Amino acid sequence: MKQWMRKLLDQFDLDMGSGAHLGSEETPISEEKATLLYIIDTLNKHLFEIDSHSIRKTRENLDNFAKEILQPSAEKLSDVLFRFRQFYSKYRIDESAYFEKTIEDFKTIVWDFVDQLSEDLAFDMKNDQTLNEKLMQLKEAVEANSISDLKNQSRQFIDSYIDFQSRKENRNKKKVAFIEKNLTTVKKKLVEANHNLHRDHLTQAFNRKSFDEQINQIWKMANANKKPASLMILDIDHFKKINDTYGHDMGDFVLVECVKLLQGLYSRESDFVARIGGEEFAILLPDYRLEHAADKAFKTLEQVRKEVFVKHGMELRFTISIGVAQLGQEEDVKQWIKRADLALYESKNTGRNKLTLAKYMNSQINVA
Ligand code: GH3
Ligand code: MG
Ligand code: MG
Repeated sequence: MKQWMRKLLDQFDLDMGSGAHLGSEETPISEEKATLLYIIDTLNKHLFEIDSHSIRKTRENLDNFAKEILQPSAEKLSDVLFRFRQFYSKYRIDESAYFEKTIEDFKTIVWDFVDQLSEDLAFDMKNDQTLNEKLMQLKEAVEANSISDLKNQSRQFIDSYIDFQSRKENRNKKKVAFIEKNLTTVKKKLVEANHNLHRDHLTQAFNRKSFDEQINQIWKMANANKKPASLMILDIDHFKKINDTYGHDMGDFVLVECVKLLQGLYSRESDFVARIGGEEFAILLPDYRLEHAADKAFKTLEQVRKEVFVKHGMELRFTISIGVAQLGQEEDVKQWIKRADLALYESKNTGRNKLTLAKYMNSQINVA
């Protein structure tokens, strides 16, 4: 069986009877179906929260489609595909509506701002006109040589000038308050948007997109400074069972706690903890050689092993599997990730709850 298929099928809990031994070379499902599962898996990994589709609900739906595709006896594949297409079209439409709405919000704020400015300009122009008229009257009074008229017009001009100034001041104060309020809202929204763009909604770890950006940065820095850098990829063991046994809430809780634990262990400013898949995390360790990263990974394994997680009075333990790779000379980012990924895969294939160090050029060292 092709390796990508084997890896993928490994990920889906295949309950397909005797013919479906993952270790065997037989392919339990067709390449078309596997491709479809691959697409679903990719969608699953890149979900983000939008108004009408929570990540949780969408993931459940996608998982159900995957299960249906895996069931050979169920309805015809074409029917499942039809429903999948309907589901995904709706999702895309809602996704685009969500973005349009967000842009609309920004547009409204900018529009209010422009509106206010035009109103102010109109106000200034109107007052300029009134003041001009008063000024003309004052000039006429000067020319007419009548003292009482002059006194009268002067007073009127001064009164309307003072009135205009105080109204202008009032308006200015209101205007500044209004602008400040708007700017605060815009700033808050931008900060939120920026945060959401980089963080995973559930665990607040960095998300896949940030990881992709960060690993490229680290790669550039390591190459420029000729310094080492290591990458650790880790995955919770039998996470599906946690979901199946205790429910998705408990699964979510475990993910959140796992990130907290990792963030506690990897707390240097330059350490970078990201959630790169459902229950898969990556940690970027600039300046770390393989031995150094292996030491940290070993401590992480131990820490997770001994930790007891409690929710609603229920106690739970879990384990993780890890793959570690130090950036090799003349290696690109893709190869680096691939080696760490293969090392993780090796840990999974050789019993889980362990770490594997990727030696350069694909050979592995297993550490229990
Ligand atoms: P392995 O030891 O081989 O890693 O097995 P596993 O069961 O941990 O891994 P698998 O990839 O088969 O299952 C991962 C499951 O994680 C499938 C998916 O439904 C679930 N999952 C993904 N994201 C979330 C999430 O945000 N919350 C919860 N509760 N479950 C999630
Ligand atoms: Mg797992
Ligand atoms: Mg996984």
